[in-house]
Amino acid sequence: MSSTQDKETCIRLEAKARVCQSCSKLRPDFLRENPHSSTRKKICPFHQPSKKERNREILGAQLEQFTRKCRLSTLIKLPTEKKQQLIDQIEHIVDFNRELMLKATLFTLYYLHHKFLTDDPLPPMVFHQTFFYSVFQLLLNREISSKNRYFPKEELVQAYQQYLEEFPTGGRPIASDASMEARILSITAKNMAVTFANNLVENFESRYIEYLTLRFRELLPVKETVVQVGSP
Ligand SMILES: [Zn+2]
Repeated sequence: MSSTQDKETCIRLEAKARVCQSCSKLRPDFLRENPHSSTRKKICPFHQPSKKERNREILGAQLEQFTRKCRLSTLIKLPTEKKQQLIDQIEHIVDFNRELMLKATLFTLYYLHHKFLTDDPLPPMVFHQTFFYSVFQLLLNREISSKNRYFPKEELVQAYQQYLEEFPTGGRPIASDASMEARILSITAKNMAVTFANNLVENFESRYIEYLTLRFRELLPVKETVVQVGSP
């Protein structure tokens, strides 16, 4: 992929991110007169109040919240055998999902690390659900289904082959079955894309300061003087 294509995709994604998608499709005139970035803004006609807002509407501002912890087995009201089946299935899904996310994260870091080492620009797709969904497909030994022309499919497949050569246990998660995967892959990929972007944004300042500190230390090394306490 050329850097011009990267820039175009970047600009397209940024522009898309700044305007409310619902209003741009359904109320473009309203959006022009009342610019806003998403349905989370109260001004948006498609705004859905959050749980916090809804609770405040019903119970007032002086609201105190408590959390009561409860075992899953206590919560489920089913005959013993069915209850155990349900709990086993939930644990199975959680185990699979956790392993899939960990392996996808490790491969993503490997891929990004190699991009940085070669000074290649990052494809904007790494911030998108499609990227993580495709990584899941690689981990599950499937074809990448994305038809997006901006998606670095061949590069990703190549990087994954290299990754498996270096880390053979980085591949397919254990304890998976096709029917279960289909239901959870999409939502997990979406969550990972959001978490990945949030992690970068929220930690940007501290990482940048650390980077600058390190660079200054390299450029301006400080001479250390040893002072002996008690010497004449
Ligand atoms: Zn809106």
